[in-house]
Amino acid sequence: MTAAANPGFTPRIFSGIQPSGGLTLGNYLGALKRFVEKQDEGIETIYCLVDLHAITVWQDPAKLRHATREAAAGFIAAGIDPARSILFNQSQVGAHAELGWVLNCVARLGWMNRMTQFKDKAGKNSEAASLGLYAYPSLMAADILLYHATMVPVGEDQKQHVELTRDIAAKFNHDYSVSFFPAPAPVIEGAATRVMSLRDGTKKMSKSDPSDASRINLTDSADMIAAKIRKAKTDAEPMPEHLAGLKDRAEAKNLVNIYAALAGRTPAAVVHEFAGKGFGTFKPALVDLAVAKLGPISVEMGRLMADPAEIDRILGQGAARADAIARPILERTFEIVGMVRSR
Ligand code: ATP
Ligand code: MG
Repeated sequence: MTAAANPGFTPRIFSGIQPSGGLTLGNYLGALKRFVEKQDEGIETIYCLVDLHAITVWQDPAKLRHATREAAAGFIAAGIDPARSILFNQSQVGAHAELGWVLNCVARLGWMNRMTQFKDKAGKNSEAASLGLYAYPSLMAADILLYHATMVPVGEDQKQHVELTRDIAAKFNHDYSVSFFPAPAPVIEGAATRVMSLRDGTKKMSKSDPSDASRINLTDSADMIAAKIRKAKTDAEPMPEHLAGLKDRAEAKNLVNIYAALAGRTPAAVVHEFAGKGFGTFKPALVDLAVAKLGPISVEMGRLMADPAEIDRILGQGAARADAIARPILERTFEIVGMVRSR
């Protein structure tokens, strides 16, 4: 799937990250690092701190504000240039919530019921989950379609939501006999599209996981990164000769994928280099690599966080630029569905 599937639409990238906690290595490798690559390829890029998504589960207001600014600092420290990309927080562009409502009326309950993220996040007691958590994927569809984005770089876990966005766009176009919304393609690339928890190789690394030891945060010190990698779950086997030898070794495979993504190499090349060596050798090498790559980002985040007013100014400017694209698309949507617009 490529942008070529959307003739008539300018290639445009949209993606977002929730300020539901601090940025993790999973967010960095699965999303942020690739957001920077896309920006540097010269495609129009729009990146959003999706604070309206974050409140689908309870957030302490002061922590949410802090996490939003810190995530903005993380984006900039990782290489997002607010002059070249549009960087803003979702709630400052009201059109997201407005289009979200329209798309709530397009999405079908049967489609929403298949969303695995809701099942994972709501857990056993889904009756107590917020209505917002259930509607999350249609708001995400609005985030993307509001900009007529054609490509959405995400981690593997968000593929289902981008596919739902395509279904919602197609149903809207069909119901109103228009070719108004493009069919955005998920862009899932690299060696670490699903970074797993350091404590449990069957669980995705998440910023909202209650266990801090399960993840590496972009703000972790070198000592913390070293301690977490040293304690990361593995097995007693040495590194195999070939990648296929990691098939049933989820934790070992995860560390290899992390190494490969950080080093910009393939997992097969990493396995080959460490073949026959134990994790007592591999883990210190991974620590050195992770500290070398993440250390400068964390230092720069600290520097940026010393001036929150400047971060707020950048987000405000980004919001104004985002609104200038979004507002006409929302207005046209309202016209298509039959709302009276008095101007
Ligand atoms: P939460 O636990 O609150 O859902 P999260 O860590 O899953 O937080 P999101 O804000 O939901 O982060 O996702 C932001 C982006 O990071 C998405 O593109 C998502 O696919 C990607 N991402 C999240 N976790 C991982 C991971 N473990 N590996 C690769 N990509 C990831
Ligand atoms: Mg998530």
